[in-house]
Amino acid sequence: MPRKCTVCNNPEIDSINILLVNGVSNRAISSQYGVDRGAVQRHKRNHLAELLSKVQEEKAEDLLFEVNKIWSDEQKLLAAIHEELADPLRPGKYSLNHKPEDIKILYVDDEGKPRRQKLSTLLKRLNRIGTIEEVQSRVNFVDEFHRAQLVLKNLIELKIEMAILKKLDKLEKFAEEFKEGQL
Ligand SMILES: [Zn+2]
Repeated sequence: MPRKCTVCNNPEIDSINILLVNGVSNRAISSQYGVDRGAVQRHKRNHLAELLSKVQEEKAEDLLFEVNKIWSDEQKLLAAIHEELADPLRPGKYSLNHKPEDIKILYVDDEGKPRRQKLSTLLKRLNRIGTIEEVQSRVNFVDEFHRAQLVLKNLIELKIEMAILKKLDKLEKFAEEFKEGQL
């Protein structure tokens, strides 16, 4: 019973416990704190051991909590990597190819102005403009010279963009063939 233990009830109990844990002898503690040597012995065997195992349990719980947190963070990270690298063309496989939203294209427009645009934006614009036939029919509908000019400008830009895309495609093929050892 801790209540009856003179060591537990000693106001210096924390210091005594620290000394005991550090291997200071019962005799030294007994004389330093004026407690019975037998009481120190009993306290060490019955109460200190219990206290230490409790501390260890708490430490183990903290550690488990920490490990669980790391585990859950790691799962989130893996899920993000999985999402980022998933190849839409080959389900279940990863790809290190760039996605259109990752690639930025630098080019010069017909006014000589340098421009930078995401490939995904250029591809969207490509879809919006449509085929040359579609654009031509649109031009026919719109009488305004200004509008036609605008479409033409878009077309010129488009041509530049397509040339860039072609180059990019060639480069990628080259890189792939090089990787596969065909070159
Ligand atoms: Zn005690």
